[in-house]
Amino acid sequence: MTDVSIFTRIMQGEIPADIVYQDDDCICINDIAPKAPVHVLLIPRTPITRLVDATAEDQALLGRLMLRAGEIAKQLGIGDAFRLIVNNGEQAGQTVFHLHLHILGDKRFTEGNLGF
Ligand code: 5GP
Repeated sequence: MTDVSIFTRIMQGEIPADIVYQDDDCICINDIAPKAPVHVLLIPRTPITRLVDATAEDQALLGRLMLRAGEIAKQLGIGDAFRLIVNNGEQAGQTVFHLHLHILGDKRFTEGNLGF
């Protein structure tokens, strides 16, 4: 049996979360342990495990996620300066194995400080 990710459980309403945005493709929630004043997670409803597991079939979805990320950043007032991060694999810091984009902002990101 495939493990159901914590993000799928949030989407199914089993676990509470602070929802910033949602549509048929994705959900955006505040990160439970924010690394910046604004730190949200944009998560596709399709449970792609890691970015490298995405296929050509996911191409349109991935494109829509990028557009949503920009729109959500603007809505959150950080459209002029934010970071978009995808951790791929445990050694890169991925802890939830359901693809998600971190959107971080309202913080001064300096060279050598990934802010994450
Ligand atoms: P990763 O380390 O996989 O790139 O990012 C996972 C993120 O999910 C972390 O920043 C972590 O704080 C966040 N997170 C883990 N569990 C929960 C949860 O139950 N609710 C919310 N809102 N965020 C979570």
